[in-house]
Amino acid sequence: MAPEQANVGAMTASTTDAPDATQTPMVADQRVDPLTGDIVNVVDGRQKRPNLPTTGCPFCVGGIEAPEPYQVKSFPNRFPPLPDARAEVILYSSDHDATFWGLGVEQGRKVIDLWADRSEVLGARDDVAFVMPFETRGPEVGATITHPHGQLYAFDHVPALPRMKFERGCVFDEPGERLVSESGMWRSWVPFAAAHPFQFRIAPTEPVPDLPSLDEAGRTDLTRVLLDALERLDRLFDARTPTMMWVHQRPFAGSWPGATLHIEIITPWRSNGVMRFLAAGEMGSREYFNTIVPEDAAQRLRDALPR
Ligand SMILES: [Zn+2]
Repeated sequence: MAPEQANVGAMTASTTDAPDATQTPMVADQRVDPLTGDIVNVVDGRQKRPNLPTTGCPFCVGGIEAPEPYQVKSFPNRFPPLPDARAEVILYSSDHDATFWGLGVEQGRKVIDLWADRSEVLGARDDVAFVMPFETRGPEVGATITHPHGQLYAFDHVPALPRMKFERGCVFDEPGERLVSESGMWRSWVPFAAAHPFQFRIAPTEPVPDLPSLDEAGRTDLTRVLLDALERLDRLFDARTPTMMWVHQRPFAGSWPGATLHIEIITPWRSNGVMRFLAAGEMGSREYFNTIVPEDAAQRLRDALPR
């Protein structure tokens, strides 16, 4: 794509890499709020996507998105929040009822490898600056299909949250008594200033810029720590805990010496079935009021799965 087309503004979607002709045509309507500078992507076509289908899972083998057997799989989102095949779906397993953490290290590692492969491929595009694998799990937080899967957005710019972290130099709070688990150089912990009652930060002790540059041992250790964290959240509440997870890594455009690969996970629950809402005082100030002491949250997460 020509540089001028990568600017914020109206862009006509290309269907070149779309899975088939039924790909929803869309025009990206990316707006910037003049008051705050926040970017809002208005994606009208998303309203047409299926909501919690009860039959015919599209991600099971034989389904519309997975006609052939697979172990892990990625493909452009049929209802893309971003144009030009810059939004993908990542299937973790062909087993409809599996959980990510229940896949085990060998299969879970395939997901990490796929994240890295897709990051590398999409990151090489002229119209991609930042690749973010993420997962929204559970109907409580808006996941429309229960089959274990995540997504990936390839932004043509570096969004505000990762940009802020990288510009601040990716300064991680030392886990100390908030450490939950570790494998090799990867650790999971509850942040010192956790904004949510139960929140994980997962990062390496030595900086690694991005998924593609993570070595074999690092990928396996990251898999172990990530699956461990997700299992603990399910054990803590004895439920399929709704979670939101995102991967931040060095942007693929520009120079970002401070950027380090890391993952964050939050659950919107403060106890089983009880949502922790961001209330007006928080939304109105961008400051948070957390009713659970992070050190206590870490203890409860450690106790949830004695190892
Ligand atoms: Zn399925």
